[in-house]
Amino acid sequence: MSATGHENVQDKPTAMPPSDDQEISIITTGSRKASRRDRIIDEDEPLVDTTAKLTLKSKKTDRAKRRVEKKQKKVATSPTPTSLLNLPAELLQEIAGYLQPSDVFQLLQVNRNVYDFIQSNESTIARDIIRRRYFVLSRCFPLPVAFENVESSARPSLLSDRRQDMLQIHKKPYQHVKGIDPLNICTCMSCVFSWNNLNMILDLSYWQKNLNEREPILMIPRGTAPEWNRKLLEANAAIVERAMDSRLVHAAILEKHLKTTVQTIFRTFRGRKTVHPKRLYHLTLVEAEKETDEFLERSGPPSYEFPWHRDNYYGLEAYVPNRKWSKEQERWLYYAEGLHERDLEWVKQRFTPNVTSVPVREHVTEQLPRPDSKIQL
Ligand SMILES: [Zn+2]
Repeated sequence: MSATGHENVQDKPTAMPPSDDQEISIITTGSRKASRRDRIIDEDEPLVDTTAKLTLKSKKTDRAKRRVEKKQKKVATSPTPTSLLNLPAELLQEIAGYLQPSDVFQLLQVNRNVYDFIQSNESTIARDIIRRRYFVLSRCFPLPVAFENVESSARPSLLSDRRQDMLQIHKKPYQHVKGIDPLNICTCMSCVFSWNNLNMILDLSYWQKNLNEREPILMIPRGTAPEWNRKLLEANAAIVERAMDSRLVHAAILEKHLKTTVQTIFRTFRGRKTVHPKRLYHLTLVEAEKETDEFLERSGPPSYEFPWHRDNYYGLEAYVPNRKWSKEQERWLYYAEGLHERDLEWVKQRFTPNVTSVPVREHVTEQLPRPDSKIQL
């Protein structure tokens, strides 16, 4: 028994909260201090808690209590998010920016509200998706420019007979790409290349199943135009035309081409005995599963040659045009940006309807595939 008549009270109280094996008792000596003591276990007598519950009462605790009650009331009355659309618009938009384009198209089917939300934020969502997933491919596969968006002073030059005759070489031979419509799309050289590239990668994507399963691609006898092929080309062209109005559709084309590229790299890699014992771009399975084009930033072979025919699909490893590897800087340099303006100016200078003669040398240059000399480094 201590001098105060209380046992088990420590001399030095601390501010630490009691732990599970400690109790609080009140010292009844006049001072209302809480103290900490170690639990005493009496094996003979049952332990009876005779301490009264400490009632906390002060203006401060009242205020804290009111705050808690107010908060609980607010939580109870505010609606619990039960669907995506209950989330704040910024958050919803942010989430959509992490999806794949095909997932966003799935979302469009959910209901009218989701559809309207995505439609009204499409450009921002697509921008985020492209930046995260298709940073490389978006620069290698730019969209052609709609004819209605071409400056009016350049339109007669683009539509001049001489200019259109010259373009035949880029339109006639293709069985896998629908010819560009000069009344709908700018036919400067870079826009023709952009059109052909985007249509071709949709066609290439279509035949992936055959290539993966080693089934020959249907060949078209020379001089024939089967209905199935016309429909396929029409469908691909319609998608590219939609992409010219919708960044999300553009992103969806890039998504398809990334899948094609990844599949092709894994399909064509045949192990250590091949000449190239590493997979192209050193692509790993983990990277492939990320479904971004980040791996394409590593060095690899350039794609200068357009696959002119479906026969070329068999030997194609990765088609990533419009860029050149810089050994000095050890990175890819992309050169598609600004080409439309430059090529359009070229057409304007040489094909204005009142100009009657064009130097032969320029004809030849124009008819060749894009020369390396046009690459801006
Ligand atoms: Zn153009």
